[in-house]
Amino acid sequence: MSNEAAAIGTADRRPVHALIVGAGLSGLGAAIRLKQHGFDDFVVVERGSDVGGTWRVNSYPGAGCDVPSQLYSYSFALNPEWSHSFSPQPEIYAYLRKVADDNGIRDRLLFDSAMTGARWNTETSRWDVDTANGNFSAQFLISGAGVLAEPSLPDIKGISTFEGKIFHSSRWDHSAELAGKRVAVIGTGSSSVQIVPSIAPEVERLDVYQRTATWVMPHLGRRYTGLERVLFKRVPGFQRFVRGLIYANREIFVVFQVKYPKLAVLLEIVGRVKMFLEIRDPEKRRKVVPTHRLGCKRMLVSNKFYRALDRKNVDLVTDGISEIRANSIVTEDGTEREVDAIVLATGFHVADSPTFNLYTGADGRTMAECAEEEGPKVYKGTTATNFPNLFMMLGANSGLNYTSLIYIIESQLNYVLSALTRMRELNLGTFEVKLAALDDYNAVIKKNMATTVWATGGCQSWFLDKAGNNSALWPDFSFRFRNQTREFDLTAYETTPAVAR
Ligand code: NAP
Repeated sequence: MSNEAAAIGTADRRPVHALIVGAGLSGLGAAIRLKQHGFDDFVVVERGSDVGGTWRVNSYPGAGCDVPSQLYSYSFALNPEWSHSFSPQPEIYAYLRKVADDNGIRDRLLFDSAMTGARWNTETSRWDVDTANGNFSAQFLISGAGVLAEPSLPDIKGISTFEGKIFHSSRWDHSAELAGKRVAVIGTGSSSVQIVPSIAPEVERLDVYQRTATWVMPHLGRRYTGLERVLFKRVPGFQRFVRGLIYANREIFVVFQVKYPKLAVLLEIVGRVKMFLEIRDPEKRRKVVPTHRLGCKRMLVSNKFYRALDRKNVDLVTDGISEIRANSIVTEDGTEREVDAIVLATGFHVADSPTFNLYTGADGRTMAECAEEEGPKVYKGTTATNFPNLFMMLGANSGLNYTSLIYIIESQLNYVLSALTRMRELNLGTFEVKLAALDDYNAVIKKNMATTVWATGGCQSWFLDKAGNNSALWPDFSFRFRNQTREFDLTAYETTPAVAR
């Protein structure tokens, strides 16, 4: 640590140029890009004991990615070794560990170091960051805490009295022996459609509790041939070319979801044929028909889910749950079903993530309080007024549900690097996005959002906050997000000069 750096921090705070929260896809990418660009004075604080984020913690049976493998890697670390065109979770987790090793950033990673609070210090014009493993004074804060990271546990009467094993899909209890047991899975989202077919053949009985039926599309995954893997590895540009084709192909979903949602009827025909072909039981077939437009909720992708539901040992329960007792689940029609274990595939806190309570801005309000009072207002998915020198990875309206989030993360990292470079060139100390720029930006988002399937498709989803606004997704082609984040647009920001110390 330089003398200058030591002088900046207070006695009990380690000074750093940048502090990155989380070592998942965002945090890992941020660390590598900062290092590549010579911004060397940074640390990554991670609450877990390894890199990988969501791909470390979601280890449930059948966990995998429903976005093509070719898109699910950093552009600076393509992986010719993927075994399948859609990767299973263990491979993605292994890939991320390898990327961390190959890029020499392990020495910057502080594990078991949950960030417990970050407060903008108006006197030092830096972030005071407290962690379970020491406190920091950071000029810039990069939050890569994750969007789908905080499990949402259902508030069902009696749930705490259940005596069997009960756990959330993203906190899978690998000590729980489910083979030969009576199991309930609550929820039928993207996690559930992977879990249900994986455990159905081994359990004695499986009750799947569905609150809302969602469209399921065919899974086009397959194993890569040896020849393809050789070509990816040996033929210069081949893998990048294939990646480009797949990227362009996925953008077609924007037409169905954002531009012309009514066209989704065409895809619904595919969904209906699938129900007909994969479910023989007419009662179950009737229950899985969605009442919303395809794409309104995140489209599910599986060739096994319907077939698993159709099994004799699987029941699809659509009556609401009224109570959980010591050894059973009771539905509103009065039926009591005994179970030994319950899997809560009930999703995550997104717009209401408890993480937002941890960031306190310049006026003393937390990010959660600001969002509560004004709605989540973020500029280019990355910066916000009242939170100077903070970059939020995958902040409001930067999410995608049809292609790889890594594309958005890398776009944001371009923006971060451009900002840090400009700040250094101009000898600036702080930036804060102007309210007018923020409002103009969000007015366009709101206008573009109004006609999307997420707003008009007739469903509730985790994309919507409690006011009914979609603060999760980017309502346009992903390359437009990339374009707007190429350069740090300094004119949209209030800045202050760096203080000579
Ligand atoms: P989710 O999509 O939010 O689904 C949660 C499910 O639980 C829904 O079916 C929901 O019903 C149900 N539910 C919630 N609370 C309930 C309650 N109190 N009683 C009964 N049912 C309840 O969560 P997820 O499946 O974990 O997926 C979340 C997101 O993670 C996905 O949308 C996706 O972005 C990501 N993901 C991605 C992959 C991948 O392959 N890339 C895999 C898994 C997850 P309602 O529909 O009625 O709300």
